[in-house]
Amino acid sequence: ARMKKVVKFGGSSLADAKQIQKAAAIIKADPERRYVVPSAPGKRFSDDIKVTDMLYTCYDLAEQGLDFSDALDAIQARYNDIISGLGMDFSLQAEFSEIAENFKKRAGKDYAASRGEYLNGKVIAAYLGFPFVDAAEVIFFQPDGSLNDEKTEKVLRERLSGLENAVIPGFYGANPDGTVRTFSRGGSDVTGSLVAKAIHADIYENWTDVSGCLICDPRIVNNPEPIKTITYRELRELAYMGATVLHEDAIFPVRAAGIPVNIKNTNQPEDRGTMIVSESAEHCDHIITGIAGKKGMSVINIEKDKMNSEIGFGKNVLRALEKSNVSFEHMPSGVDTMSVVIATEALAGKETAIIDEIKSRVHPDQIYIESNLALIAV
Ligand code: ADP
Ligand code: ASP
Ligand code: MG
Repeated sequence: ARMKKVVKFGGSSLADAKQIQKAAAIIKADPERRYVVPSAPGKRFSDDIKVTDMLYTCYDLAEQGLDFSDALDAIQARYNDIISGLGMDFSLQAEFSEIAENFKKRAGKDYAASRGEYLNGKVIAAYLGFPFVDAAEVIFFQPDGSLNDEKTEKVLRERLSGLENAVIPGFYGANPDGTVRTFSRGGSDVTGSLVAKAIHADIYENWTDVSGCLICDPRIVNNPEPIKTITYRELRELAYMGATVLHEDAIFPVRAAGIPVNIKNTNQPEDRGTMIVSESAEHCDHIITGIAGKKGMSVINIEKDKMNSEIGFGKNVLRALEKSNVSFEHMPSGVDTMSVVIATEALAGKETAIIDEIKSRVHPDQIYIESNLALIAV
């Protein structure tokens, strides 16, 4: 059987006509690159605005009942630049009229944001000569907002098995009532992973603007080396902890199916990038695979002499968090101290309730909250 590769291109890889030409050259260079998952056009230069963010702003105006036509025209202008830059005879006029109508009807923030991928998918499908498959017809959410994996996998597989090639826009799917819902930001990575799993791809290539997952954040450290090989587990940890090169939820579908992920650079396609593989595969020889970090953390510090011998101390502390419906990131401890690290945002407004609850459950000698901290993961 012929190999099947799923290729996802991020926003900066598709930010303008020149970038889309690079992506198309990569796709056409290998006939096994059959299924393409595009993001919305991203930044063309560092203080440019992503189409997704333009759509959020535009829809905000619509929701407030304000005139959003200039904001929508600016978005249309970005696509028109792309279409003319690609030398295509193609128009999105009908789509933009429909979007304007739907904005007036308050079709929702998610619907608005999803149009970035939808429209880019239409352009890229036409440019490549591949069929377009609307993600709202193949990716499904549950009533509670989580993914409906079974239905998604079944419908995606049925739909794509009949197609030699396809373009499936990233980032969104449909709610049970048919309205559009998006993943969280950066979610096109998740779409690519779902497509790869559904069609039993041999590999999921994730094309971005860096030559793989780097040992640390290139926005903080100059020119870090790419990680050659990393396990799904390590990458999920780094992704969750701030290595935003791949959406943390994109790991699960491919890991379940044992499909390797290759993170590649659209601007330097010859670089080997990073291979993400299962736990069992051969691994890199460095002791430290990578470093990532996340700001916006608070710590509840609890001190009590001889807490180490008090059975159930930790459980009682965590019960207090549970009661306020707060999850924690990390819980380092010493012999007479315990610290619970919590995202400041998750703790907001609940500080007093949690502290009071911990006090009444474990009677600490001292308890206080420290904020403005970061977590570093090695
Ligand atoms: P895309 O639009 O292609 O999905 P993203 O912006 O989501 O790309 O992710 C790539 C960016 O992630 C890089 O440009 C880089 O700034 C950032 N990044 C943060 N940490 C890392 C890391 N450890 N390795 C690579 N990129 C990282
Ligand atoms: N365009 C969306 C975002 O900016 C999704 C993505 O790029 O993956 O978050
Ligand atoms: Mg991304």
